[in-house]
Amino acid sequence: MRLLLAAAPDDTTFFESGTWGAIRNLGIFLALVFWAATVYWVYKDARRRIDDPWLVAIATLLGAVPPFVGPLIYMLFRPPEYIEDVRERELEILAIEEQLAERDLRCPVCKGVVDSSFLVCPVCTTRLKQACAECAAPLEPIWQVCPYCATHVPPGIVTGEDVLQPLRRQRSRRGR
Ligand SMILES: [Zn+2]
Ligand SMILES: [Zn+2]
Repeated sequence: MRLLLAAAPDDTTFFESGTWGAIRNLGIFLALVFWAATVYWVYKDARRRIDDPWLVAIATLLGAVPPFVGPLIYMLFRPPEYIEDVRERELEILAIEEQLAERDLRCPVCKGVVDSSFLVCPVCTTRLKQACAECAAPLEPIWQVCPYCATHVPPGIVTGEDVLQPLRRQRSRRGR
């Protein structure tokens, strides 16, 4: 009996002892460090996903309060993509659109799809470009020299536009 009675006061003194105090302080300290780390993580993540600095500040505040639960709420509502990825994708789409626009050349007469290297529209036989006298490469109407063989394009050479204009005039006359 004496031993049991003696043991009981020892248990209560353990909670009041310096060891317990040290463990409790360490626990609080670790919780604070973990809390600060989660807040910093939210701030860092929000900056990569959100463009508006005010929204980043609100997200960081949510990451801080309520502690530990805030970051989970933030994760539910954060934008799904990084700003960097969104910009990269937009640039890729822009590049693809430009490529498609380049590819989408059409004959001005029959609106058939033609290639930039075509001399004549294969559908309506309209002359689209003049061939170089030396290397037969297709020449753009504004070129003064062939870029493939450096031969000078004689002035007044028949270009696509020149060929097309008489056709247009004929059409408008017919219309009258
Ligand atoms: Zn055509
Ligand atoms: Zn040439």
